[in-house]
Amino acid sequence: MLVYTTENPCATFALGKGLAALLEPGDVICLSGDLGAGKTLFAQGIATGLGVSEGVTSPTYTILQVYDDGRLPIYHFDLYRMEQPDQLFDIGFEEYSRTDGVAIIEWADKFAAQMPDTSLWVELKMTSDEAGRMITMHPKGARYDKLCEELKLVADTCLRHGHSCI
Ligand code: ADP
Ligand code: MG
Repeated sequence: MLVYTTENPCATFALGKGLAALLEPGDVICLSGDLGAGKTLFAQGIATGLGVSEGVTSPTYTILQVYDDGRLPIYHFDLYRMEQPDQLFDIGFEEYSRTDGVAIIEWADKFAAQMPDTSLWVELKMTSDEAGRMITMHPKGARYDKLCEELKLVADTCLRHGHSCI
């Protein structure tokens, strides 16, 4: 488990961007946290880090947005409005989360039982001063243990130098 505190939105973005550099085909990032916790911002950081040029928005109304002009394709899910686990099958969740791209899933905790057994869970929580976020990474599986070890080496640098939301 790895815990970071980001003091502003750009730091959260920068941490996502730093993580992106370490991602490999097939990686799955499950995001949890309340509305406004920073899940989309973190996903935007990942997308920017992967070189996606179009603006990444919250896919709340579409459930899935695909970005395929970066280093790896991104399948960005937002399960906020999804009601039944069956709907995951309707949108092809199984296939998308087992391809050569990176799956990023907002509100993954709503359907935790349907998420892949191995993945990186990232939990975002507002701190008491409301400007900060506590970001906890829970690796599930050897691939994600390794990813967290790698992130440890670069995260402090990202958080120190990465304070710009681009
Ligand atoms: P979610 O997708 O979890 O609903 P968003 O990423 O859309 O959340 O929104 C997070 C909001 O919180 C943004 O308006 C952002 O500017 C604000 N915010 C304030 N401080 C932080 C922080 N430290 N990290 C991330 N977001 C923050
Ligand atoms: Mg969101």
